[in-house]
Amino acid sequence: MKFETRLIHGSHTIDPATGALSIPVCQTSTFAQGSVDHFGKYDYARSGNPTREALEEAIAGLEGGTHAFAFGSGMAAISSTLLLFQPGDHLVVCEDVYGGAFRVLTRLFGRWGLTVTFVDATSLDAIEAAIRPETKAIYLETPSNPLLKITDLAGAAELARTRGLLTLVDNTFMTPYLQRPLDLGCDIVLHSGTKFLNGHSDVVCGFAVTKDRELASQLAFIQNGFGAILGPQDCWLTLRGLKTLKIRMEECQSSAIRIANWLTTRSRVKKVYYPGLADHPGFATHNRQSAGPGAVLSFELTSYELTKSLLEGVELAAFAVSLGGVESILSYPAKMSHAAMPPEERASRGISDTLVRLSVGLEAPEDLIADLGRFLVD
Ligand SMILES: *Cc1c(COP(=O)(O)O)cnc(C)c1O
Repeated sequence: MKFETRLIHGSHTIDPATGALSIPVCQTSTFAQGSVDHFGKYDYARSGNPTREALEEAIAGLEGGTHAFAFGSGMAAISSTLLLFQPGDHLVVCEDVYGGAFRVLTRLFGRWGLTVTFVDATSLDAIEAAIRPETKAIYLETPSNPLLKITDLAGAAELARTRGLLTLVDNTFMTPYLQRPLDLGCDIVLHSGTKFLNGHSDVVCGFAVTKDRELASQLAFIQNGFGAILGPQDCWLTLRGLKTLKIRMEECQSSAIRIANWLTTRSRVKKVYYPGLADHPGFATHNRQSAGPGAVLSFELTSYELTKSLLEGVELAAFAVSLGGVESILSYPAKMSHAAMPPEERASRGISDTLVRLSVGLEAPEDLIADLGRFLVD
């Protein structure tokens, strides 16, 4: 079945107990048991809940995985997954990793004994050069945030596999509609489901997905043990949002392509970062491993004053943290997604004070262009 059909007719189209077309919100913390010797499939809702299970099975199927685990946020999914490692282990991480991931890696897991080398992951040689005897995994985001840099996922996964390392990929920007890292040889896919998967700016959630039985059993142990699970109401909202993933991604992406091309014609825009532009350095790699450039782009303006007036003055796109909603969102990486990164680190990664990130929503692209155009007059 095609992706869009699977979005609607996944394994949980119909509630097995009642025939309901919408999977019920199973709002309970515990499940009564009939026998002392044999507990039922569900016992306590941290360990398992039918609404969460429906969502987890849907996400696993879409990513080409066998198991998915739903968490209370993208960061909970990332942090829980990092518990696969031990103090003394080392990770190679892409240098423009999401700011929150940078923060837990350096400030929490660092204190706990996990070491990290940040590399320019557009270069497989740079990744390879950072590998040490104690390295256990490569952690990637492609396109990365906020500079939309591209990593060759199959190449990185191959490099990792031959050295016995895991490859972890944060697939938030692409979603499984556009890119499926497990099919390219990666081991674990991570998501902030808060963004495109739920897509309506009304839930904070996260996922870890794998098709490896041993990793799945470790992740299940961590999810239940550490306990950063997603509640049933949020699982239900995410199941609902997910049904329209394909049409949302298609529509937002086609507007993003239009807006990116228009931005390249504006004299007050110094640079546009978008893997859908033919002059993007990762264009060929990205096209090989994904079905489209997605709906997030960044651009650099000519001055700080212009940046400030655009962020504060644009009417249609909300000036906010986050992305992937039905409404367009403009954000300011230096003070938002990457605020957790010290200014020197930020600057060395190319995240300047005139860089703006746009997540394109479902508004008409002409309206968005007219709105941005008030600040980008030539
Ligand atoms: C938002 C985001 C996260 C963190 O997810 P939360 O749901 O906010 O905890 C991680 N990675 C990327 C790429 C993100 O955009």
